[in-house]
Amino acid sequence: MARYRGPLCKLCRREGKKLYLKGDRCFSNKCAFDRRPYVPGQHGPTSRNKLTQYGMQLRTKQTMKRIYGVLEKQFRNYFEEARKKEGVTGDNLVKIVESRLDNTVYRMGFAPSRNVARQLVTHGHFKINGKKASIPSMRVKPDDVVEVKEKSRSLSVISEAIASAKDKGTAPWLDVNFDAYQATCLRYPEMEEAGLPVDVQSIVELYSK
Ligand code: SF4
Repeated sequence: MARYRGPLCKLCRREGKKLYLKGDRCFSNKCAFDRRPYVPGQHGPTSRNKLTQYGMQLRTKQTMKRIYGVLEKQFRNYFEEARKKEGVTGDNLVKIVESRLDNTVYRMGFAPSRNVARQLVTHGHFKINGKKASIPSMRVKPDDVVEVKEKSRSLSVISEAIASAKDKGTAPWLDVNFDAYQATCLRYPEMEEAGLPVDVQSIVELYSK
């Protein structure tokens, strides 16, 4: 499926907030948003126009799509699925995007960012319940076990991510066993646990118009 392949830091600057798309670089003094916290473009740091409520809702949606690396059509499908499920639509939406395999690999601490996780998944480095899993949008559900394939355990990108994750900690809804290169999904995450810098409810309002 097509996806955005341009400069990731531009997305943070466009959204006016850090989206943490580049792993450890986002926490270093090389972060482009920290250095130039204004909209990208040739006119430099000009003031932002005040957004309407609709404009704000639109930006919120863009931000969430960019965080998870999902394009409009798929995101809209996720929303429709969330709307049809029992419970609060916004909470359901977060559970759906969080359960993607690429996101789970990132949350496990086996990749420094969702983008890298996506690439590792596509290259066939992971299994779910012992079976090959190379589609980033595959869903991980409670009791599923995600693991790094044996042959891929020596990849430096994975070992460096693990070293960093051991310091930072991993998601509480995943039981991660770094020594076994695997994690078991215990449950779906709650909205607050996802730690999103967006008001998901405003996306629900946008799509419900
Ligand atoms: Fe965003 Fe990370 Fe780039 Fe900073 S380094 S602008 S947080 S992607």
